[in-house]
Amino acid sequence: MINVTKTFLPPQDEYQALLKQAWDTGWMTNRGVLVKALEARLQSYLDVPRVLTMTNGTLPLQIAIKGLGLSGEIITTPFSYVATTSSIVWEGCTPVFVDIHPDYLTIDETQIEAAITERTTAILATHVFGNPCDVEAIETIAKKHHLKVIYDAAHSFGVRYKGQSVFNYGDVSTCSFHATKLFHTGEGGALFCQPEYYDVLFYHHNFGHQGNEAFQGLGINAKMSEPQAAMGLAVLPYMTEILNERQLICEQYSAAFELTPLEELPIRPDTDWNYSYYPVLFESEAQLLKVKAALELHSIFPRRYFYPSLNTLPYLEITPMPISESISKRVMCLPLYVGLKANDFETVNQIIRIIKTNI
Ligand SMILES: *Cc1c(COP(=O)(O)O)cnc(C)c1O
Repeated sequence: MINVTKTFLPPQDEYQALLKQAWDTGWMTNRGVLVKALEARLQSYLDVPRVLTMTNGTLPLQIAIKGLGLSGEIITTPFSYVATTSSIVWEGCTPVFVDIHPDYLTIDETQIEAAITERTTAILATHVFGNPCDVEAIETIAKKHHLKVIYDAAHSFGVRYKGQSVFNYGDVSTCSFHATKLFHTGEGGALFCQPEYYDVLFYHHNFGHQGNEAFQGLGINAKMSEPQAAMGLAVLPYMTEILNERQLICEQYSAAFELTPLEELPIRPDTDWNYSYYPVLFESEAQLLKVKAALELHSIFPRRYFYPSLNTLPYLEITPMPISESISKRVMCLPLYVGLKANDFETVNQIIRIIKTNI
């Protein structure tokens, strides 16, 4: 069976050697040696000012919204994973959708200003499949209208834009370290922020504690545990290998689809991309469904990602978002993971053959 992704597992002895450090201290959580080591390693690997690890990639979104004191309306993208929208609603704010750019699939920055009202407090946008939003245009709009900017950068581990980590843009960026993501800790995630926000976001992720016997404010528990951090520390040394292998698979797909009607994701100029997903855009939903069924006959399971468009969620008032809805119906992510190219690319060739004969 070939799925859209497969979790990269480091050598088990290396994971266990790291876990032993937790055993030796007797600490399993509450920011032990491994969590602190992982944050330090990520800070230098990614070249970012602040890293705060968390239990998953959804809590950092909720904590960013809460910690920045947002209320009212938050402008957001309909083309993302459900966590982007649900976090806004969960925090008692109203998502106001702005449609997406038809090529880059990120929020259409040219339509943001028209959606701003006196109740707008922030923009929460997703760097889709590791492709950055137009961060400069968004910053200009945010400054002009005194809005905060949060990026759901769940797909953007290691992405650099104009020579620096994409996590450095906006007031806060969040990432997911879920087992299906490029870099993972099993479950896990992190928040990246400008230094002035670190303290307030920190106490929000740890019950509001200020030492053992005082509280700075309202908080929740989003602390990463030591076994999670051990996995991250064991995976991180393999990032170069992981990226190289994924790049080869992406290049093989790209070469094969060049002269077909399938559209591939253009990467925004000045971006060092991370080969996190391989989305292809079909001419119609019918064509997508035909290819999906043909692949499934061979036990190959691509994923309709993102589907459905988030403006159609059942708990929201419907606002039409024609581009996002059209793309959601026609986009599919192809299998992409370390190990897929075993047998001299034969598996990738098989996937390509099946797709080409069905479009
Ligand atoms: C995976 C993902 C999340 C949620 O991360 P979890 O770690 O699963 O909580 C949020 N946003 C996007 C865009 C994602 O892909």
